[in-house]
Amino acid sequence: MKSYRKELWFNTRKKVEFINITPQVEAAVRESGIKEGLCLVNAMHITASVFINDDEEGLHEDFLEWLEQLAPYDPGRYKHNLTGEDNAHAHLKRQVMGREVVVAITDGKLDFGPWEQIFYGEFDGQRPKRVLIKIIGE
Ligand code: ZN
Repeated sequence: MKSYRKELWFNTRKKVEFINITPQVEAAVRESGIKEGLCLVNAMHITASVFINDDEEGLHEDFLEWLEQLAPYDPGRYKHNLTGEDNAHAHLKRQVMGREVVVAITDGKLDFGPWEQIFYGEFDGQRPKRVLIKIIGE
């Protein structure tokens, strides 16, 4: 069995932002040389997500509006912010959107369903943050 590890770095322009990272993950799969296996992609921060969905602008706006209803920024609302932070909303949004995805690798390619793409979801950005790609297989 082979294994491959890579980190991607992000420093988003906006505090909250979605980035399609499918091309970087596909490049990692190619670089790994693994033809049959599993590819894990996870955020390495507790205020960011990695998730799979459609790369459709309207849907992304829907996600952001829905998340803002669930967990508005509103710093005075949360106990976590008593620590002096203002990012409780970002922890909650990350929890809803998830920490990681696992995608099967078949014949050297990410084995996606229709329209599936991988996104980095930033909820407390404008600072350097990492995503881990770990690939195992043969
Ligand atoms: Zn925090």
